[in-house]
Amino acid sequence: MYDILVIGSGPAGLTAAIYACRANLKVLCVAGGPTIEDSYRLPGGQLMLTTSVENFPGFPDGIMGPILMTNMRKQAEKFGTEFVDDNATTVDFSGRPLKIFVGEATYEGKAVIIATGAKARWLGIASEKRLRGKGVSACATCDGFLFKDKEVAVIGGGDVAMEDSVYLTNMCTKVTVIHRRDKLRASPIMQKRAIKNPKIFWIWDTVVEEVLGSTRVEGLRLKNVKTGKTSELRTDGVFLSIGHDPDTAFLKGHVELDEKGYVVKKEKTMTSVPGVFTAGDVHDHRYRQAVTAAGYGCQAAVDAQKYIENLD
Ligand code: NDP
Repeated sequence: MYDILVIGSGPAGLTAAIYACRANLKVLCVAGGPTIEDSYRLPGGQLMLTTSVENFPGFPDGIMGPILMTNMRKQAEKFGTEFVDDNATTVDFSGRPLKIFVGEATYEGKAVIIATGAKARWLGIASEKRLRGKGVSACATCDGFLFKDKEVAVIGGGDVAMEDSVYLTNMCTKVTVIHRRDKLRASPIMQKRAIKNPKIFWIWDTVVEEVLGSTRVEGLRLKNVKTGKTSELRTDGVFLSIGHDPDTAFLKGHVELDEKGYVVKKEKTMTSVPGVFTAGDVHDHRYRQAVTAAGYGCQAAVDAQKYIENLD
């Protein structure tokens, strides 16, 4: 029997574990395993797939994402967090104690912190995967700085695509937004801000067929979905701003999720189930930064600790 079960081992989960252990609570972290395709179930989360993280305070020369996460884990271990490097397959929040199932194993706790994160959507083409980190990015806030005085493309027509394209004009000479329809999904105010920006150019009704370049992004092969015509765009980088998917399929029916699958917060960091708290990208589609996820992890641990004190 644990005081707190943390699901997820990105910055949110590990910060929650550090704070909970230092409050003298017995903590188990179900850290994720390599069995699920792509990044977010890897122990350590999305940062395990990044190179240099330059915006996490305290590292003026940047720090490699995997090193940052290994250090966070060491810190959580030092204060007593136990780890299971596997995936939570389902949960039972209907009674007390709260239960998490990992394959055949069952873990019980007084409180749970859900910190399974989200993953960026990708187009799913081979050249995009090959050039990830070499000009292909899904985070303008993280990587925009690398494209100072260069030309970039942004894929998507939602609020984040508008926000990313406007943000990128602060450092890039030209930003081309490529959208698969002729109408933006973004809210009118966000659209207006992007459309009136003279550094932003628009390509409508168009999808990316191929990311071009051998060792770095050099361009895109595009296809107009209405005419079928293909063309090439020269660009130094491409930002995917086509949405994120939270890792919550295993929670469906056990805790309230919004229409996009994000965990709904009720009071402070508590979810619809008393004793079940949430932290990081799994509930936050707005900020999605390592530092904000860590901040949420701290909040969830403090809230869970107070909840347990009241139980006792
Ligand atoms: P959205 O789901 O709102 O938009 C995703 C965009 O990507 C859409 O335009 C969609 O096209 C396009 N897209 C999706 N898949 C593909 C694909 N495979 N190929 C090409 N294009 C694709 O996600 P966002 O990340 O933009 O926003 C997430 C949420 O956060 C939204 O609710 C948004 O409103 C909110 N938000 C609010 C902000 C604010 O209020 N200031 C700021 C930032 C985000 P299509 O339109 O054709 O479906």
